[in-house]
Amino acid sequence: MEECIFCKIVKGEIPCYKVYEDDHVLAFEDINPIALGHTLIIPKRHAENLYEIPDEDLVAIHLAAKKIIRAMREALEPTGVACLQLNGKGANQVVMHYHFHLVPRHAGDPELPITTWELKPGDKDAIEETAKKIAAAIKS
Ligand SMILES: [Zn+2]
Repeated sequence: MEECIFCKIVKGEIPCYKVYEDDHVLAFEDINPIALGHTLIIPKRHAENLYEIPDEDLVAIHLAAKKIIRAMREALEPTGVACLQLNGKGANQVVMHYHFHLVPRHAGDPELPITTWELKPGDKDAIEETAKKIAAAIKS
């Protein structure tokens, strides 16, 4: 999977705004966020989607999600956190490496699109600062 951008992030060949990491997963900020704090959790081992991901990686993703949304609640005080996961191009999966979206929601936010949204680069400084806030709030 030499061309997979998420595998390159796992290997450190492409930088990311990291929020969390353990043996199985890496979590980092989406650089085209729907909302500030939009975080992706990916398995370190390449799997394209939910059809393929090994059970132990899927479990690790969800355990990480629980830690991270608790940290988001503390760091960002959202009114909720949406968890989204898309499988296949027909569902608007853009990067073909499993990824689980965590999108913090705040009062007055626009409606959340599920399978279509515009890829719009976010403010890198704000993304980095938010990543640090979430990472700092994660309890082991
Ligand atoms: Zn990959």
